Amino acid sequence: MAVIMDGKVAAQQADQEFAMRIQKLKQQNIIPGLAVILIGDDAASQVYVRNKARRARKIGINYQLHRLDRGITQEAVLQLITQLNQDTQVDGIMVQMPVPKQIDANAVMNAILPQKDVDGFSFANIGRLWGNAAGNFPATPRGVLRLLRDYHITIEGQQAVVVGRSDIVGKPMAGLLLKNNSTVTIAHSKTQNLAQVTQQADLLIVAIGQAEFITADFVKPGAAVVDVGMNHNAAGKLVGDVDFKSVKQIAGYLTPVPGGVGPMTITGLLEQVIVLAEQRATL
Ligand code: NDP
Repeated sequence: MAVIMDGKVAAQQADQEFAMRIQKLKQQNIIPGLAVILIGDDAASQVYVRNKARRARKIGINYQLHRLDRGITQEAVLQLITQLNQDTQVDGIMVQMPVPKQIDANAVMNAILPQKDVDGFSFANIGRLWGNAAGNFPATPRGVLRLLRDYHITIEGQQAVVVGRSDIVGKPMAGLLLKNNSTVTIAHSKTQNLAQVTQQADLLIVAIGQAEFITADFVKPGAAVVDVGMNHNAAGKLVGDVDFKSVKQIAGYLTPVPGGVGPMTITGLLEQVIVLAEQRATL
């Protein structure tokens, strides 16, 4: 029976550590600053932004939310980003995705100064991840890595399989695992014999957006399985991409949904903001 990796507990412990790091920064008159840009009224985005705000404020981050009208022009968004780029009190800037159709997400993301691009979605930071340089890396993969470390799961030298190749989860997850010396395979919807591939994994990270798709027969006995997915099943219940009931019987470690990767994604974001503020303190 798998050890359940509790993202809520790990996130609470991380928050305590972060609050102490922020106290230290405050002694140097530095308050980590995070600016979030929310365009329009997407319901899920409102929830994500609220959750981030609550955790950020609780640990002492100076959190500012810029709510923009759904019909706003690209030029106006770029103007705000320029202003935030120049604001010395703002360490990190993020634009909550998705953005309305008239906004070019790539242009907006790349307008953020690479060192303030807290989501790590700009081409500059993607290049740094794969170019093996220091940079800002996306929140979900950061959070997953931290959770694995909290449970003392070996990453170096392990066979890791990441299922899903999105720019926000799959690809950066693979990049971070590679940076940490795993042997990495990326699988996706065109992968043949997926179960044969995933059965090789000591670390199996699943981010496909398919409710309870990964069942026990995809999993190597004893593997650490991380379920990034957030889906609603036929009964309307929030479930992951992994069939928790069957996989729990065979995996060594497993994250639940909810209460696994979700809280750790916010942890990944907050950690990145604090790292940036710590860098500012050394200037
Ligand atoms: P995307 O839809 O952008 O990407 C899904 C990926 O999964 C694609 O690469 C796709 O392959 C692959 N895929 C889809 N179906 C299959 C399949 N049957 N077998 C193998 N691969 C498949 O999703 P995201 O990466 O944005 O998100 C993935 C999941 O994670 C979603 O449920 C999302 O809600 C959740 N999520 C959760 C977060 C959290 O904090 N917990 C944060 C971000 C996302 P292809 O490229 O070939 O189309």
